[in-house]
Amino acid sequence: MRALFYQSAESAMNQPPSSTLRVAVIGGGPAGLMAAEVLAAHGVQVDVYDAMASVGRKFLLAGKGGMNITHSEPYPDFVARYGARHQQVARWLQEFDADAVRAWIHDLGIETFVGSSGRVFPREMKAAPLLRAWLHRLREGGVRFHMRHRWLGWQDGRLHFATPDGELQVEADATILALGGASWARLGSDGAWIPLLTERGIEVAPLVPANCGFDTGWSAHFSSRHAGEPLITVALGWRAQDGQIAWRKGQFVVTQGGIEGSLVYALSARLRDQIAHEGSATVWIDLMPDFSAERVEAEVTRPRGSRSMSSHLQSRLGIKGVKAGLLHECLSRDEYADPVRLAAAIKGLPLTLLRTRPIDEAISSAGGVRFESLADDGAMLRALPGVFVAGEMVDWEAPTGGYLLTACFAGGRASASAALEWLGARA
Ligand SMILES: Cc1cc2nc3c(=O)[nH]c(=O)nc-3n(C[C@H](O)[C@H](O)[C@H](O)COP(=O)(O)OP(=O)(O)OC[C@H]3O[C@@H](n4cnc5c(N)ncnc54)[C@H](O)[C@@H]3O)c2cc1C
Repeated sequence: MRALFYQSAESAMNQPPSSTLRVAVIGGGPAGLMAAEVLAAHGVQVDVYDAMASVGRKFLLAGKGGMNITHSEPYPDFVARYGARHQQVARWLQEFDADAVRAWIHDLGIETFVGSSGRVFPREMKAAPLLRAWLHRLREGGVRFHMRHRWLGWQDGRLHFATPDGELQVEADATILALGGASWARLGSDGAWIPLLTERGIEVAPLVPANCGFDTGWSAHFSSRHAGEPLITVALGWRAQDGQIAWRKGQFVVTQGGIEGSLVYALSARLRDQIAHEGSATVWIDLMPDFSAERVEAEVTRPRGSRSMSSHLQSRLGIKGVKAGLLHECLSRDEYADPVRLAAAIKGLPLTLLRTRPIDEAISSAGGVRFESLADDGAMLRALPGVFVAGEMVDWEAPTGGYLLTACFAGGRASASAALEWLGARA
């Protein structure tokens, strides 16, 4: 049985710090802010430092296209989304799962709703009202914010920052690092923390793109006509471990040089790893996932009289625009002219993916501080007692669907709990 330990922070906060203990939280994204909330609620003086002029910039961006904060699917399905790291992430979720995320948002006065896919969104779909209410509560609870403070590592055992007023050394009883991954560096998380930790013996898996697009090397002709066009209701196939092609329905977008979008992101971890091992990866596009192969073949092989193949496909199957363009782009003249081979291609058009798009464009990054470098609490760096890590800078990954933010929130809380326990044991 999993226990749910979420308690309203509202009552516990709004009180000045009751202890002389000081914890530095470096990184004001969702993971760091959540750690700050738990620490402040326990009476600890919390100082949040961030390199940017304001906190939560990626969180705000995540809210631009409709903030997907968590997911309503059953817990076993939910936790399985963390793949190879699901056991480690499950330990954080035990204290703060998807239901707790929703209760926490409601506590901030923001309503949520469940979309048709089971994804959970704030009622207004935006992050700004939520972040505003959250920061207000944190400030009321005594959390102090220090913006434009870039952490540079340690100097003489103290935290070392570059600030607009020069360099600064700060002493703290414990430190939480929540520095993010390496996508969208202009929003603050640039991965510059990696050498600061590796030189102290912390193992860090290289940061690589997750939930990312891929380059395919379209012809100039195809991309000039179709870049930016969505492929709605298609399926993507990939070679599963048993050698069979597995399929998933959804939608994605043709870009200038490749493909991106939710269906591509859902498969991106395995395709990225396949490219790393084999140099490229093949996906298959089913352009008519709601039609059986037999039906498509029957329609394509019908006599077409003097009609061109393009207008035949449009009238029999509604294939036009970017879908028709893809067939021309990916098939030889002979394949396109052969109705049986053309029908087979409509149900499984092979597309070679050459490389991932750069990490800076990705929704998130994989890699980060390896769990093997963490103490049994799943948050403290073994090599640096009193220093805890949380959020995307830790080596786990998940697809889009609210799983990223949920693990950042839950990991932030877990790091704060571990810090409180560590401080308590030393008192
Ligand atoms: C376009 C986009 C859309 C997204 N949509 C969703 C979504 O709908 N649902 C979802 O679950 N997830 C979404 N995500 C992912 C989610 O936003 C991230 O996983 C999450 O913000 C990571 O939180 P974090 O606290 O670990 O790191 P971040 O949010 O990256 O915060 C890290 C903070 O650390 C600071 N920092 C870094 N280095 C230093 C330093 N040396 N000194 C001081 N400060 C430093 C940064 O300035 C930053 O404020 C989206 C991401 C993007 C890019």
